[in-house]
Amino acid sequence: MTNDPTAKPLAELGVADAQGVARLFADVKNQFTSELDVKQSANDWEELRGAWLGRKSGVLTRITDNWLKPSPPELKRAVGQALNELKAHVEAALETRRLAIEAAADQASLEREREDLSLPGVIRALGTRHPLRQTFEEIEKIFLSLGYSVVAGPEMETPYYNFEALNIPEHHPARDNMDTFYMSTPPGAAPFAEGAQGKPLLLRTHTSPMQVRTMEKQQPPVRIIVPGKVYRRDNPDATHGFIFHQIEGLAVDTDITFCDFAGTVEYFVREFLGPKVKTRLRPSYFPFTEPSVEVDATCVFCGGKGCNVCKQSGWIELFGAGMVDPAVYGFVNYDPKRLSGFAFGLGVERLTQLKYNVNDLQLYYQNDVRFLRQFA
Ligand SMILES: [Zn+2]
Repeated sequence: MTNDPTAKPLAELGVADAQGVARLFADVKNQFTSELDVKQSANDWEELRGAWLGRKSGVLTRITDNWLKPSPPELKRAVGQALNELKAHVEAALETRRLAIEAAADQASLEREREDLSLPGVIRALGTRHPLRQTFEEIEKIFLSLGYSVVAGPEMETPYYNFEALNIPEHHPARDNMDTFYMSTPPGAAPFAEGAQGKPLLLRTHTSPMQVRTMEKQQPPVRIIVPGKVYRRDNPDATHGFIFHQIEGLAVDTDITFCDFAGTVEYFVREFLGPKVKTRLRPSYFPFTEPSVEVDATCVFCGGKGCNVCKQSGWIELFGAGMVDPAVYGFVNYDPKRLSGFAFGLGVERLTQLKYNVNDLQLYYQNDVRFLRQFA
């Protein structure tokens, strides 16, 4: 920059008095102002600061070297003062610009971070209650409203509670229908303490053992339901599983009649399947009830006209039930002359299938969310 006055000694610029000095500095200040106007970016700021305040070759250093140091004594004071003012002005202007650049950067990053409320939200998958669990809860609700309480019992049982105390002695043919998982005892180990007469424990084949366990501990009136898992050695297919679910029911008191039993069954079926459904009781056999019945309902799919599900009969089988066999009372020290009651065993899978018309049992156990979501 050959025209740059700051590159030249003061003597060559024809400045003779304080006014000349003031004019000279005014020109430099104007030069700074015009550069500041043009150079706005953060990078420009660094460049500008170097050009004006740089220690080796900045404008102010040049002025000090070329103008102040060689100035004649009569002008020294004026040059020094003007230089200080210029320096203060340049520093202040650069600081103001620096703050403005920083504020703009902050604002820009805020803009970037601000959430865009117009974007679609992230859809989080909600879990649903399993259809079997829904059936459990629905049935529990119905019986709780009738004054029953819910009890739970061990899934590992003794043969006594699973069979004998329910009037199913050893070699009774009913045991054949309930292919049982027995727990094996490690070689040399003592037999399970709870196993009656050292017989191996088993996985309960029904929820009925809790009838006995409850009556052992509690005097009538008894009104309980027992929801839970049961186990049988079946090969899994559309209608079998080696684990399935039951809800046992038991009511015992001093004056419970068959009418109470039939009324309770009918009330439950209507509450569960709908008010139009009719029930009928068919004679059946269970070792621990007498008389025993199968509870049928008019087919929920055809309304009783006949369809494939009900095999054109108009009726579907719901569950087994009956009046408690007096022999069972003998195991729990209840007086069969004074007490009577009824029991039932609801198959949770069966009732769920009837409700939703999903007939492959395995679908309930595979936990495929595409299946489970349909029950939301
Ligand atoms: Zn039908």
